Amino acid sequence: MIKIEKHIAKYRVEKPADVAEAAARAAERKADAAEIRRDGGKVIRLTEKLERPEVLIGSTYKIKTPVSDHAMYVTINDIILNEGTEHEQRRPFEVFINSKNLDHFQWIVALTRIISAVFRKGGDISFLVDELKSVFDPRGGYWQPGGRFMPSIIAELGYVIEKHLQTIGVMPRPEMDEHRAAMIKQKKEEYDARNKQQDAFSRSHFPEGAQLCPKCSTAAVIMMDGCMTCLSCGDSKCG
Ligand SMILES: [Zn+2]
Repeated sequence: MIKIEKHIAKYRVEKPADVAEAAARAAERKADAAEIRRDGGKVIRLTEKLERPEVLIGSTYKIKTPVSDHAMYVTINDIILNEGTEHEQRRPFEVFINSKNLDHFQWIVALTRIISAVFRKGGDISFLVDELKSVFDPRGGYWQPGGRFMPSIIAELGYVIEKHLQTIGVMPRPEMDEHRAAMIKQKKEEYDARNKQQDAFSRSHFPEGAQLCPKCSTAAVIMMDGCMTCLSCGDSKCG
């Protein structure tokens, strides 16, 4: 028996919600315990506290835009967590940008440091890609070979990071349903056959006069069976 000697200032009766909360907490603890690997090691997660290993695997992407004389080289280094276990995961760890063009040096350094910090936080980082891709250069964007419109160099950096994250499996690749993919392929072949002569010198893979797709920024939207449809990503006004 517990004898209460102090004056009772406040009390409350345990409610079913409290019990449920306690049960949820216990389940969480159990899940954490289950993550401790059989060999006794703990599952390593990406956090700011994780020290940089001596060696990281890197991929370098070249960005050559018509708005700068010099190419930009974007290097993204990945870390492999829990290698050789069922929890193995490849995550981006840091980014570097190299260019002969020093006009924007301080901004590039700041941007790469912030992107690297976001990488190291772990969790869902797809918001970063969306933010970068939506940056517009007030002096106007440019067309990439292949017919995609880039609103700015920063947006192109966003596309590069997106591509990298899709390659290493951190972000899902956009999927198109089979029927639509087949239909678009056929339509594209018809167009190509019709416009072979003039397309031989064109840098775009898509029909001339195609409109800009609001979803993937590619000039590939054509009227198809009475419906504006993008030949690049399959986006359609008619659903
Ligand atoms: Zn599209």
